[in-house]
Amino acid sequence: MWIRDEFEKNCDCLNERESDLHCFLSMQTEKARARMLRQEELLAQVGEAEARRRFPLLGMTLGVKDNLCVEGFPATCASKMLEHYVPVYTATAVDRALAAGAILMGKTNMDEFAMGSSTETSCFGPTRNPWDRERVPGGSSGGSAAAVAAGMARAALGTDSGGSVRQPAALCGVVGMKPTYGKISRCGLIAYASSFDEIGTLTRNVEDAARLLAVMEGYDGRDDSMCREAPTSDYRSALAGGAAGLRIGIPQGWLGEGLSEDVKRALLAAVERFRTAGAEIETTELPLTEYAVPVYHVLSFAEAGSNLGRYHGVLFGRRAEREALEEMYDATRARYLETEVKRRILLGTFVLAGGNYDVYYRQAERVRQSLRRNFDRAFRRYDLLLGPTTATTAWKLGEKLADPMAMYLSDSYTAAANLTGLPAVSVPCGSDSRGLPVGMQLIAPAYREDMLLRAAAAWERIRENDA
Ligand code: GLN
Repeated sequence: MWIRDEFEKNCDCLNERESDLHCFLSMQTEKARARMLRQEELLAQVGEAEARRRFPLLGMTLGVKDNLCVEGFPATCASKMLEHYVPVYTATAVDRALAAGAILMGKTNMDEFAMGSSTETSCFGPTRNPWDRERVPGGSSGGSAAAVAAGMARAALGTDSGGSVRQPAALCGVVGMKPTYGKISRCGLIAYASSFDEIGTLTRNVEDAARLLAVMEGYDGRDDSMCREAPTSDYRSALAGGAAGLRIGIPQGWLGEGLSEDVKRALLAAVERFRTAGAEIETTELPLTEYAVPVYHVLSFAEAGSNLGRYHGVLFGRRAEREALEEMYDATRARYLETEVKRRILLGTFVLAGGNYDVYYRQAERVRQSLRRNFDRAFRRYDLLLGPTTATTAWKLGEKLADPMAMYLSDSYTAAANLTGLPAVSVPCGSDSRGLPVGMQLIAPAYREDMLLRAAAAWERIRENDA
């Protein structure tokens, strides 16, 4: 039956490529197999329609990023600090996906505490890009994106605070979606920057993204402050909507300086195809997007500095034993956190200290508000905004590791949707001259995931028909 066939295919890919690509930090394929067999039995007993009614995600193998808690299973955040940490509860989103039938294959590799764009800051070694093993898969959800691209799992969960689902999706040639901030509970997501952190999906196609979202979204009392009972819609009929009549704006600045020729060519070709299918597309002004990266970094570092204050060796994770308490805090952090995490804690503390608060933090918060207004204004004229997901395709391992600024700039097109909390998706859109995947990003108004999915599915069909 198909459940077993799909599962065996995933396992074959795992056996063949995992030792080379290193997508997973821990696996539980035996437990997964047992679950698959139970589902197969159910399918035989009650038939496809009834089995799917009970389990909407029947047979869907799932990788889960290692900053999401699963009870009894390590959640390391790819950090030595949490190397032996085993959560005592399961993240709401994961819980809902599993209750709907998803089959957990394992926990995926990531940048340490989700801080990075290449999965190279993982303390347990980098993930490689399935399209070219000398290149990065993107990050920070690089393990999730690579696992799906390599066929090791049908879908994976990631987190996206500045682009960490969409950017690796683009670099690995899969669909990466983050919904509106507040649509999916953050309960069980180990915090990096709380006003940005979101759970998103990495899938082979748009339909699977919609199915996962439908199961995971909705109010959760365990994330009461942010998670809302938001308007939901019938995503299945949205998927059938088509491109005709969609009004789409392309922020002028996203086609300018910094964008590689390869990505631009693929993107403009996609825009032409979209137009032929009936979408109305034009370029537009969207002021302040050029400040998205610095503003995101000031605010997210400030939040990271305070969130990571909990790792002092007392409550969670590792401890470096010392006689005096202060010394223990210092030694624990010095020994068990790596460079990028330390850099963010230090810079985050700096932007909040004394007079710096007004100069950096408050100023960044103001720009964030203005940016929100500018997006609102744009959405009075357009159903969606469109642009590249990344400036370039996947780069070589090690190429940007010593240059934090170059690494940070890879969030240039993604960070705005985190600053504004808007739903956004990256869909594959052709390839560069080396054959590496290019991603196209779509952004919708708040809570208009239906619109986002409609356009993404329409684009997917255009591509399939062209192929
Ligand atoms: N690449 C971004 C960063 O380094 C995004 C991280 C994220 O979304 N978790 O901060």
